[in-house]
Amino acid sequence: MSRIVDVLVVGSGMAGLVAALAAADQGRSVRLLTTGMGSLAISGGSVDFLGYADGRFAADPWQGLAMLPEDHPYSLLGAESVRSAFQFFANVMEGQHWPMRPALSQDGTPRNTQLPTIMGTLKPTYLLPASLHTEALASAKKVLVLSVQGLRDCRPSLVVSQLRRYKSWADKEFTQGLLPSPFGDTHRAISALDLARMADKPHSRRWLLDALAPHAGKYDLILIPPLCGSKANPEVWQAVNAAAGCPVVEMLSIPPGVGGLRLRDALLQALNKHNFELVENTTVLRAETTGKTCTALVAEASGQERHHAARAFVTATGGILGGGMTLEPGQCWDSVFGIDITVPQDVSQWSEPKIFGNHLFSRMGVRVDRTMRPVDDAAVVRWQNVFFAGRSLGGYDYATEKSGHGVAIATGWQAGLMAAAAAAAGENQ
Ligand SMILES: Cc1cc2nc3c(=O)[nH]c(=O)nc-3n(C[C@H](O)[C@H](O)[C@H](O)COP(=O)(O)OP(=O)(O)OC[C@H]3O[C@@H](n4cnc5c(N)ncnc54)[C@H](O)[C@@H]3O)c2cc1C
Repeated sequence: MSRIVDVLVVGSGMAGLVAALAAADQGRSVRLLTTGMGSLAISGGSVDFLGYADGRFAADPWQGLAMLPEDHPYSLLGAESVRSAFQFFANVMEGQHWPMRPALSQDGTPRNTQLPTIMGTLKPTYLLPASLHTEALASAKKVLVLSVQGLRDCRPSLVVSQLRRYKSWADKEFTQGLLPSPFGDTHRAISALDLARMADKPHSRRWLLDALAPHAGKYDLILIPPLCGSKANPEVWQAVNAAAGCPVVEMLSIPPGVGGLRLRDALLQALNKHNFELVENTTVLRAETTGKTCTALVAEASGQERHHAARAFVTATGGILGGGMTLEPGQCWDSVFGIDITVPQDVSQWSEPKIFGNHLFSRMGVRVDRTMRPVDDAAVVRWQNVFFAGRSLGGYDYATEKSGHGVAIATGWQAGLMAAAAAAAGENQ
């Protein structure tokens, strides 16, 4: 049995890390158990809040909140709590010198930004690294779209031809180009992460700065794949923008998630300032409960089981993708507490023929109350000191709404705060 901690968090995706930070910020001791890195390792570096509400682009996501169904995690929390959670996250990132901010409308209200992807599509997203000049996306006339020789995931010709289809981009003057590969002639497929890692260190970063230099001063904006470092390091951005002589904007990319790794890096650095312990490569197998109280989680690492006792627990194990839910035909349950998630027996009802359709499996998850405690079908709280966050929750489809990290931040913050309060109450008993 390990030393008892105040709050035990499961999962190191966005929800688990924010929950750990929120609890630790209340002065609680926190241990985080995790199998892997979660979807931050494959996601972009911007925070989607609510890109689409009721199927339509939500320029102002705060207004879009009013259109969500009442079992949506944002609706359960209420707009004020969501705002506080985003403020908490913004403060943490500011403290890590990696500020994350929304773009502003002309009247100063925060709005979603339509960020180009390496497929040449535009994706609505909300919080962006402050180093990314959103104004240049709208104002730039002369745009250079760059990739790197050997980087198969990004083709400037595709980006340009697709972006031209959008009204807001149609009148821009595009040029396309390839930067030389820093690896020379190689048959190995290069990923954006390989290139980003080169930019981490000043001596190997030289490659990127030298490659950008010939383009300096010729354009209003340069679009590149995410290769400006794998860490949340503003120095890389300052150097890249200076070398390019104009704003440089990274396009959103397919995995590996260079941008997501930067967010993870910043959050872990912030956690290291607290009474925090990270236990990786550990899978939680089951929970030990007595009546309405959870006493410990049993986890397995290197073939050995270990009991982790705590005063309160946050489960942020992701959805089907994160390993937080186990599926069998006609059945679905959460992998740690074994909570049954009511689903139709007929599996054909779990999805729709259209790929961007209204898929039930995308919204399947644990039902909670507004404190993030899991509840049963009669809305009765199952355990007093257990809280769920992130994609393990039901009632939303992050992919069609574009709300992934946003829901993880909002619910992670609430779960962390509530767990800290439950731990304090447990300590005083
Ligand atoms: C390809 C892709 C790109 C995306 N890009 C973006 C983006 O740019 N912006 C955005 O806002 N959203 C994005 N999203 C969505 C976003 O990543 C997720 O919705 C959100 O971050 C979910 O976070 P989470 O912490 O709930 O779950 P996850 O990130 O899935 O984390 C779950 C964690 O739990 C751990 N775990 C699971 N079971 C156990 C267990 N039994 N014991 C111990 N640990 C366990 C996992 O190892 C993992 O660490 C993207 C998603 C995908 C798939």
